[in-house]
Amino acid sequence: MLPNPEHNSHSNPVMVVGAGPVGLLCALVLARAGVPVCVLESEPRTTLDLRAGTFHPPTLEMLEPLGVTQAMMAVGIRVPTWQSRDLQEGLVVEWDMGVLKNDTPYPYRLHLEQHRLTPILLGMLQAYPHAQVLFSHEFQSLDQTSSPGAVKVVALDRSRSDLDQARPVEFTSSWVIGADGGKSLVRKSVNIEFDGYTWPERYSVVSTTFDWAPLGYADNAYISDPDQWVAFFKMPDVGPPGLWRMTVPVGTDLSDEEVLHPRYANAIFNRVLNAKTPIEFPIVHQSVYRVHQRVAKEFRVGRVLLAGDSAHVNNPLGGFGLNSGIHDAMNLGEKLARVFHGESDEDLLDLYVRQRRTVNMEYVQEISIKNKHNLEEKDPVRRRERIALLRSIAQSPEKTREYLLTSSMINSIKRANAIT
Ligand SMILES: Cc1cc2nc3c(=O)[nH]c(=O)nc-3n(C[C@H](O)[C@H](O)[C@H](O)COP(=O)(O)OP(=O)(O)OC[C@H]3O[C@@H](n4cnc5c(N)ncnc54)[C@H](O)[C@@H]3O)c2cc1C
Repeated sequence: MLPNPEHNSHSNPVMVVGAGPVGLLCALVLARAGVPVCVLESEPRTTLDLRAGTFHPPTLEMLEPLGVTQAMMAVGIRVPTWQSRDLQEGLVVEWDMGVLKNDTPYPYRLHLEQHRLTPILLGMLQAYPHAQVLFSHEFQSLDQTSSPGAVKVVALDRSRSDLDQARPVEFTSSWVIGADGGKSLVRKSVNIEFDGYTWPERYSVVSTTFDWAPLGYADNAYISDPDQWVAFFKMPDVGPPGLWRMTVPVGTDLSDEEVLHPRYANAIFNRVLNAKTPIEFPIVHQSVYRVHQRVAKEFRVGRVLLAGDSAHVNNPLGGFGLNSGIHDAMNLGEKLARVFHGESDEDLLDLYVRQRRTVNMEYVQEISIKNKHNLEEKDPVRRRERIALLRSIAQSPEKTREYLLTSSMINSIKRANAIT
């Protein structure tokens, strides 16, 4: 039976800032454990913009007991193989995730748009009477010095259309989780530095209904090229046949307007297609965004904790960003529930920090940077060596398994669990 939140009526709710996937999942894990939670979200609803969309096996394993994986599988696309390609060489290796069948019940990637996951999490969270989600409430500031064991939070309430102006509202919470994304105001409020750097190039995301499967493309493919690498993802969209999404780096010489023109998307697709006569691709969506490699110096200051993009950001090569945020949310939610119920002392939260920050530094940052360097390698000798290395790994079932244990994040979870 779930603990009854009434038993903790003396305790203030946990405040989660941000109703992105990480914030909603933190809140869901806490609510399931009987912890009263309140989520503040500045937008009037869960956001719709195209972002992450690849889910790795450990993420699916973690979300299964919550019933989230089952809901995702009903609308997502299973991707049992993915490809390493080269623009000149063509297919280098097709990786079969089936070699992980003894390591995980989910030996595949699942593709699902991030904005289709958030409504699933929100619906589950809203089923708990002790969970509250306040949209159009923008976090402004916090104070954890005025009363011991409590954090005062001030937000701007824009939900009242009958009022001309937003009105400040004050909340008293027991703990605050900053899940308010890369520009996190929660992180800034507690003066945590966001160490790292921003890449000079932006990334462009383009979706088309043109079907790449008959040309031999797996539902996920990474194409190396010294001038402009390409990452392909087949996404479910509103249902079959789905969409093909492509991410490419964009040089600093082009304006956002030029990059967002269908002419630019068409030029890239035609370059990959290598057709004698360029064709017109049906373009459904285009966006451009900046990419960073940053990790917060601390994930915890007193009663304030960070999770997801507010704690760490990385390039999307490997699909680690959102997955690692979900791993944070599960880890933190479970530990904070125990602390909240008095089953464990606060030191348990420092274990969350040690496990998740270490893994982010050693794994998410390191491998996403390496993936990027590999795809964009300009030195022809090193490019040939890398292609030969990938092919030699693919020759050995044991090396293939080890390669896929790392690329599918299974090794990162093993590493985190080994930290005490
Ligand atoms: C434009 C963009 C494109 C991306 N594309 C990819 C991709 O292709 N592949 C990939 O793997 N990853 C991608 N990512 C990264 C991935 O989307 C993130 O890792 C993921 O969104 C992290 O989830 P989160 O819940 O931590 O943060 P977010 O999804 O950013 O959610 C944060 C939430 O907090 C809310 N918020 C912010 N400030 C406040 C405030 N002051 N008060 C209240 N609420 C607030 C926001 O409105 C938002 O709903 C992309 C990220 C961005 C920004």
